Amino acid sequence: MQIVRNNVELFNALAVARLQGKTIGFVPTMGALHQGHLSLIAESQTTCGITICSIFVNPTQFNDKNDLEKYPRTEEADLKMLSAVNCDVVYLPTVEDIYPEDWICPEFDFGDLDKVMEGAHRPGHFKGMSQVVHRLLWLVQPDKLFMGQKDFQQQTIVKKMLELLHWKTELVRCEIVRETDGLAKSSRNVRLNKEERQQALTISQVLFQLKKENFPSPNNFYKWAIAELEKQSLIKVEYVEIVDTTTLQAVDNWNTKQELVCCIAAKVGEVRLIDNVLIK
Ligand code: AMP
Repeated sequence: MQIVRNNVELFNALAVARLQGKTIGFVPTMGALHQGHLSLIAESQTTCGITICSIFVNPTQFNDKNDLEKYPRTEEADLKMLSAVNCDVVYLPTVEDIYPEDWICPEFDFGDLDKVMEGAHRPGHFKGMSQVVHRLLWLVQPDKLFMGQKDFQQQTIVKKMLELLHWKTELVRCEIVRETDGLAKSSRNVRLNKEERQQALTISQVLFQLKKENFPSPNNFYKWAIAELEKQSLIKVEYVEIVDTTTLQAVDNWNTKQELVCCIAAKVGEVRLIDNVLIK
């Protein structure tokens, strides 16, 4: 596994791969890696000749300073995990590599996609996220980009960004990897204490119940789900929304042919968690 720590080293590694005619697969992450991230690497390895994983905790996408400071940083363990799964290249850029003084980032118009859910609750988050993903894609120029369904809205906005830029990179959506009890794997889970970890489970449980039970309407589900979540003393719900997967607009009935996704964001103690399920 090649570890590259600046853009010159990155370009050299990519040039060799391109000369060899290899398809480039790219997995951007913020580190504190877990099986969810590794599933993206595995997916890339099945179809690409070379897999690049970046680790960069992007300061511009954190609207909460405390969240940024507390974000787990585990470089040594991350490198071990990536090496164990034979990732080809790990790119660990500095802030200067990503944001050189003279770099001009386009402003994207995502319509309503970035106004709802995470966009409404984390002001500036998607501006920062699209800024860093745009820069990383510009540097790596991958054939395929692997992102998790876990961050559903993020992945929808990146898809829109690729369309707006007319870039040919193919975005591959990868399934959510969960703990055996159902909690979605997240770098933030390590910050949960025992009681919070137990209560956090309700998030995936209400999502699974939506798939099992015939709720008469989305509204009926919201009422039930919010009540279930708020029975847990440490959970504070930010939103529960059932939206069209392409427009991300909430639906008020089930009479649609569109694919729907139910997304939840909640704070469990101090830790903000998100999860979702596709419902048709
Ligand atoms: P992050 O490091 O949290 O920015 O995540 C990097 C990538 O890993 C994103 O595309 C996430 O959607 C994806 N990811 C995070 N958690 C999971 C998970 N539990 N299962 C699958 N993919 C995930």
